[in-house]
Amino acid sequence: MKESIVLFGPPGAGKGTQADLISELTGKPQVSTGDMLRNAVSKKSQLGIEAKKYMEAGLLVPDKIIIDLIKNRLDDEDSITGVLFDGFPRTIHQAEELEKITQVKVVISLVVPDEEIIERIVGRRMDPETGDIFHITFNPPPEEISHRLIQRKDDTKETVIQRLASYHEQTKPLGEWYEKLGKLISIEGNGTIEEVGKNITEAISHIG
Ligand code: AMP
Repeated sequence: MKESIVLFGPPGAGKGTQADLISELTGKPQVSTGDMLRNAVSKKSQLGIEAKKYMEAGLLVPDKIIIDLIKNRLDDEDSITGVLFDGFPRTIHQAEELEKITQVKVVISLVVPDEEIIERIVGRRMDPETGDIFHITFNPPPEEISHRLIQRKDDTKETVIQRLASYHEQTKPLGEWYEKLGKLISIEGNGTIEEVGKNITEAISHIG
């Protein structure tokens, strides 16, 4: 059976940033439901039109949409030995459904206090050409690309507050759920990108 890794944490914890490193270390492709949904939104597909309402309001997209998306993605050839989930699962129901289709080997939880999150997200910018993520203060982009960076529509202060509320209500209990299963590894996510990356590398070296 496929063995997957879950990267868990609040919005803005650095999951997308650290996913590249974990993919490199484990050889597992990153599967980000947020990226898949944004892709669908930009293509204006039926799914994208439906998901957009929730995303712009800072709410979770309904489980059924997400689970179908994941089931299709896991049929792709590159996921044969398991994947790295980034931003999925986000509810206990999604996690239960996931157990039926893949084996979750370990859940890496990035822990960042709420006060940090808002500052991190509001200053976040993305390069639409490469998908690279920067922060205007903490991880400034090279000058030659700064003109083309964009801010996600849901990265405004108002929406972040709602996204954090959704996280506390629907996603955080999932951390405790995985902890009871003995799968959760908590990593302090409140350092520099390099420091957090080092702690993740160390944790992964122990899981074999
Ligand atoms: P992210 O890029 O992971 O922060 O996701 C952006 C938005 O997409 C979230 O605020 C949700 O509206 C939606 N989304 C992404 N992944 C999920 C998921 N697993 N379950 C429900 N909604 C999701």
